[in-house]
Amino acid sequence: MARINENYLKLPESYLFTEIARRVKKFQAENPAAEIIRLGIGDVTQPLPKVCTDAMTAAVAEMSRAETFHGYGPEQGYSFLREKIAEWNYTRRGISVTADEIFISDGSKCDCGNIQEIFSADSKIAIADPVYPVYLDTNVMAGRTGTLRDGRFEGVTYLPCTAENNFSPAPPDTHVDLIYLCSPNNPTGTTLDKAALERWVAFAKANDAVILYDAAYAAYITEENIPRSIYEIAGARDVAIEFRSFSKTAGFTGTRCGYVVIPENLCGTTSTGDKVPLKNLWIRRQTTKFNGTAYIVQRGAAAIYSDEGQAQIHALIDYYMTNARIIREGLSAAGFKTYGGINAPYIWLKTPEGISSWEFFDKLLREYKIVGTPGAGFGPCGEGYLRLTAFGSRENTLKAMERLA
Ligand SMILES: *Cc1c(COP(=O)(O)O)cnc(C)c1O
Repeated sequence: MARINENYLKLPESYLFTEIARRVKKFQAENPAAEIIRLGIGDVTQPLPKVCTDAMTAAVAEMSRAETFHGYGPEQGYSFLREKIAEWNYTRRGISVTADEIFISDGSKCDCGNIQEIFSADSKIAIADPVYPVYLDTNVMAGRTGTLRDGRFEGVTYLPCTAENNFSPAPPDTHVDLIYLCSPNNPTGTTLDKAALERWVAFAKANDAVILYDAAYAAYITEENIPRSIYEIAGARDVAIEFRSFSKTAGFTGTRCGYVVIPENLCGTTSTGDKVPLKNLWIRRQTTKFNGTAYIVQRGAAAIYSDEGQAQIHALIDYYMTNARIIREGLSAAGFKTYGGINAPYIWLKTPEGISSWEFFDKLLREYKIVGTPGAGFGPCGEGYLRLTAFGSRENTLKAMERLA
């Protein structure tokens, strides 16, 4: 009999969104006439920008002729896309990142989940709490944690993000090797400012640690003084890997394209203390386990890097961020305390005194027919909160706020 990887059994049975779907389905079955508004799942709803679909249509035509057909592409991604990313997202903003340091993938979830493979199995990890569950779960699967006890995995340094610290986690007073940060954060919708990131870079340097920085929502930042990239911080190139995605930036959740930045000189060490560039390990991993993102998709992604492309993605982002404002204002008017929603499409809502995340989820569903996401599903510090997303249609967002008023 083939023995299984028992680390998988450490993970809780029911995935957050499966449980939400189960409860919504049951409610709908019991109340067939109820018109439910879904502000729960973090998926976009608006169509792809026209520049992207035009570029993909042209790429499909290329694929239909032998002279312009593309087979396997370069594992690191086509240089036409990597050059554009380097120029528009980094060089133009005065940030030093080159096309050689960018690795295209079929989405950021894979990159955030796979990156841990290039680090030692006994690496100590620190993870923001609450946060996107992929970082923690992939480390559990890899055996870097003990078992789940009272909502926390043993051996993990949780970095509490609470109202008291403005959801900006402080470096721990213990040594860790890998630090997962997400800014703008999913689910709290809050950001790490320059001073906070400087503290993290200093901590990473002092601890020979690597920061794994998820900037999937960078394009949603509206406030000028909030860093879009961790490389805006002096010294970050020596300690940080950055993840980005076209999913939320350009509506690519179903089209699939993301990338990771690994600076040329960023190194890890061997057990004997030799330095090894992390970039080399990632290239080795990707060339073995990944065969590239579709040419058609990379053409579609590259199309956002033109004046017209930027105008179209900003219109898309504005649409969602107007929803975010409607939700923030609607909730405030209804007497709720909210966070986020200014630099991210997520609004983090404090549940009324004494009501848990799941109780509030049920109340919102039963009384207002609105689906949110219980904060507790993103980590123990998410208890007492609920996440609403701005990714719905304008009509549904307005309707949901009318119900709450
Ligand atoms: C949506 C999201 C991603 C991107 O996922 P893709 O696989 O690129 O669709 C990454 N990180 C966070 C925090 C997200 O919410």
